[in-house]
Amino acid sequence: MRILTGGFSHESNSLNPIITGEDDFVVLRGGELAEQAVFSRHSSAGIIATLKKAGAEVIPTVLARAVPNGVVSAPFYQKIKAELLDRAREALERGPVDGVCLALHGSMKVEGGLCAEGDLCGALRKILPGIPFTAALDMHATITPELLRAVDAFAGYKTAPHTDSYETGELAAGMLLQALDTGKKLYTAAQHVPMMIAGEKSETAAEPMRSLIAACKALEKPAPGRMLAASLLLGFPWADCEYNAVTVLVSAFWEDKDRADQEARNLAEELWRRRGEFRFRTEYYRSKEALAAAYAAVMEKGERPVFVSDSGDNPTGGAAGDATEFLEEILATMDQADRLPGPLLYSGFYDAPAAAACAGAGEGAEIDITLGGNWDTLNGRKIPLRVRVKKIVPDFGPYHSALALVSYRNILISITSKHIGFGDGDLLPALGVNAADHCLVVVKLGYLEPCFRSIAARAIMATSRGCTNELLETIPYRKVKRPIYPLDPGMDWRPRQRSG
Ligand SMILES: [Zn+2]
Repeated sequence: MRILTGGFSHESNSLNPIITGEDDFVVLRGGELAEQAVFSRHSSAGIIATLKKAGAEVIPTVLARAVPNGVVSAPFYQKIKAELLDRAREALERGPVDGVCLALHGSMKVEGGLCAEGDLCGALRKILPGIPFTAALDMHATITPELLRAVDAFAGYKTAPHTDSYETGELAAGMLLQALDTGKKLYTAAQHVPMMIAGEKSETAAEPMRSLIAACKALEKPAPGRMLAASLLLGFPWADCEYNAVTVLVSAFWEDKDRADQEARNLAEELWRRRGEFRFRTEYYRSKEALAAAYAAVMEKGERPVFVSDSGDNPTGGAAGDATEFLEEILATMDQADRLPGPLLYSGFYDAPAAAACAGAGEGAEIDITLGGNWDTLNGRKIPLRVRVKKIVPDFGPYHSALALVSYRNILISITSKHIGFGDGDLLPALGVNAADHCLVVVKLGYLEPCFRSIAARAIMATSRGCTNELLETIPYRKVKRPIYPLDPGMDWRPRQRSG
């Protein structure tokens, strides 16, 4: 069996003015992809390991991944697409290809508004018609008609924060192998539910996601006539797109298609019935009140570390990472920040010029920089600060970002030269910082990643301004199809009888 694999994965925030380009992506080609040393927990690694374990010949094409950010550069998208298609054609010249399994996100957008996955998979399908084609998707995938036409079966992440990317790849590859082993055709039932869900309302440890995901898993339990994969794809609310919706996908063998249709309807109905239960699970306030609550928790109750998420500017949700509303709130209350029992840690800012200035000055230097406001000029402005450079890391992580740690009075701030986000548990340790040692930690994140959740004495979410504004009702959408919940809270909806 010869199975073609690869992927192109990005979550594109259309509210963010940054164009995500070649420098932002890590691209693995051919043998590099097959070895999978760089992204060993990604769905692509799960796909390749599963195929190899089954004795299949893996045909690695290309895998391109970047941290969520603004929409993808059109020339770069076309370049990677062409390369993937060329490698597929070359593989065909060497012999028959039996199946395809790709690692995708599902909410990648290209400059001009193109929904990337449908375009990419549609083009690949033309080269490889009539063979089984499966894909692993992020939970925040936006499902378009083009994608449904091109791909036979899908597996989506079942955890938020996402910790099961690898396992999702295993499931996607497993479905493909089962189809090839049995010679049975694959089928996917789809129900689009007109809802948008703010990222921080969908943690899978909490209701209603906990029981909705349990219902998906129950359908996948080994049993005669079982469904191969049941997925809730929540869409991505920070892209203004006509296809924004939550989609239920149930993939099965063709012979079980009626049951798949019925199960997709049931899940969609249950999701809609429980729409009002999608709520923030942590206490949340606007920035000013969030900061006041955090000071009170540290100073009056002795809670530490207290975490505050600067959630409106969460780069792992594709925000710019340089909005300054929350920083300005801190600077406006510096007398309180200075009285904290230890430095307030702020992680951090994506600011390439500031990172370069710090690296140029060197550790120990005191310099004038501006922080923020390079990209998100709607929600940020350049804040002048005289800082002490505490630490420089010239090359961090798979995206090769420089890091800087600076101090300003009683604040410590991390700065990245690349748009890599602040959810990576290795970032602060690389700067010699242990978040647990700090009384108050502000992170540009939404829900806390496990590395922070496990040490937080208290988690507060600031619904700050930025490109990942959690208050969807306040975003001026132009393309999103109406009515949609919760923008149109009084609307009614029922699932369609037929899927698609
Ligand atoms: Zn996601």
